[in-house]
Amino acid sequence: MNNSMKLSLSTEISKSNNVGIVSHLNPDGDNIGSILALGISLEKLGKTVTILKSDYVPNDLLFLPYVNKIIKVEDDLKFDILFVLDSSDPERLGDNKRYLSNSGIVVNIDHHISNTNFGNINIVDSKASSTSEIIFKLIEELELPLDENVATCIYAGISTDTGRFMYENVTSSTHIIVSKLLDTGIDAYYINKKLYQNRSLERTKLFIEVVGTTKLLCDNKVSIAKVTLENLSKTNAKPEDSDGIVEFLRDTETVEVSVLLKEITTSLTRVSIRTKDYVDANKICSHFGGGGHLRAAGCTIEKSIDESENLIIEVIKNYI
Ligand code: 5GP
Ligand code: MN
Repeated sequence: MNNSMKLSLSTEISKSNNVGIVSHLNPDGDNIGSILALGISLEKLGKTVTILKSDYVPNDLLFLPYVNKIIKVEDDLKFDILFVLDSSDPERLGDNKRYLSNSGIVVNIDHHISNTNFGNINIVDSKASSTSEIIFKLIEELELPLDENVATCIYAGISTDTGRFMYENVTSSTHIIVSKLLDTGIDAYYINKKLYQNRSLERTKLFIEVVGTTKLLCDNKVSIAKVTLENLSKTNAKPEDSDGIVEFLRDTETVEVSVLLKEITTSLTRVSIRTKDYVDANKICSHFGGGGHLRAAGCTIEKSIDESENLIIEVIKNYI
């Protein structure tokens, strides 16, 4: 963040009382972690904060402090300032997109390469490991309140978006930030157990069911699996219980691209893509109006799961 941006953001925060915070559909740890961290910090500063719920909160994030502050709002509230976090474009907000035109100023804070700079102030750094990392820097630079609760949420956001500090988006700055988070007194072992050793039985059953159907294509460079509505009903799992499968598919030695197709309805499919070395996941998903990062992206295709599979394979073949 350069000095003029810092100044204008700092001025806007001091001028405003009524703060809204929102993030994307199909939430992950960075989404929930960053909105809670900023929300808790600004509330400690004395602001009236509303954290808008765009979608469900995943089970493994329900332990985060103040998670019940993420609320579904039916009335059209007006905010002096609206922070949109971890969201590459307004469509990602679902119904909460309406708050963009209902707010005095929109601050867009994100690390997606596909971000459209839709805010009045845009703090977009595609090199940052996570939006949570950007939020930490902002809290530090603007001298906003930081406590164990804020730090717990930021730790969860960074850890989940870096694949537990594994991906190429991890820098020395990421580790320095984590060191500062640990110094606030957070219990990292507790956070890690909650995040990674707490899978529901339904989720484990879904994993076993789905991974067994994996197909390997293009000289074993492409790995594809499908989560059908039948898989979900058989295992009593929810659609979000498929989180983690696409990373498992990626982790085979020969695999460069992994794809998980999720049947939402008989004519609507969600796609998650992960890549390892040279294929740009964001490019593949942008063919279908989606986006994300170089190594992780997603899109929605208005076709059946089988038709979507064929379409996505055709596109991947051009990049492999
Ligand atoms: P996931 O596969 O976990 O749903 O998403 C991987 C990454 O791509 C996340 O950073 C997510 O925000 C982004 N992403 C997923 N779906 C979409 C989409 O439909 N549009 C855009 N622009 N980004 C997406
Ligand atoms: Mn993120």
